[in-house]
Amino acid sequence: MSEATTIIDLARLSLAHGEGRRLDAPVRLEPLGLGGQTYAAVPNAVPARLDLSRHSSGYAFRLRFPLRVEGPCMRCLEAAALDVEVDAREVSQEGTDDEELRSPYVTDDELDLSRWAHDAAVLALPTQLLCRQDCAGLCPVCGESLNDADPEAHDHDTAPDPRWAKLQELKLDE
Ligand SMILES: [Zn+2]
Ligand SMILES: [Zn+2]
Repeated sequence: MSEATTIIDLARLSLAHGEGRRLDAPVRLEPLGLGGQTYAAVPNAVPARLDLSRHSSGYAFRLRFPLRVEGPCMRCLEAAALDVEVDAREVSQEGTDDEELRSPYVTDDELDLSRWAHDAAVLALPTQLLCRQDCAGLCPVCGESLNDADPEAHDHDTAPDPRWAKLQELKLDE
């Protein structure tokens, strides 16, 4: 466990049943994996706000923080960035064997805020990170970005490379 891990000691808060608490703490986020790429949170320490309340049977948590990720566009590899508001909830029932009611982030009265924040960040991200909504991607023939490009400049089919034409003939003869 790294030193940058933020753990909340629930027992030390000594909340009575029905009592709540709000905690603001910076949480360092590990790089986020998305679609085979790795994206860094910028800054990687996010100002996390944790609301927790104690009930007769356990705890309820709400975690919120603003998240900005930067990395390559999934279509054209240009720099891309995205801002989302992460808003996640968890409940943790005490003394139950029911996996559904136990939070995977709570162990022995300790809430692993870093791990939860990381997972919540991944869930809050869209499946694609693009430099812009309508990113046209790369030309499949020459590999140049098609954004802001003259479409006719990439109409490669009209002037096939003679070598490719030869290859195609070979294929047809098979
Ligand atoms: Zn793009
Ligand atoms: Zn092209």
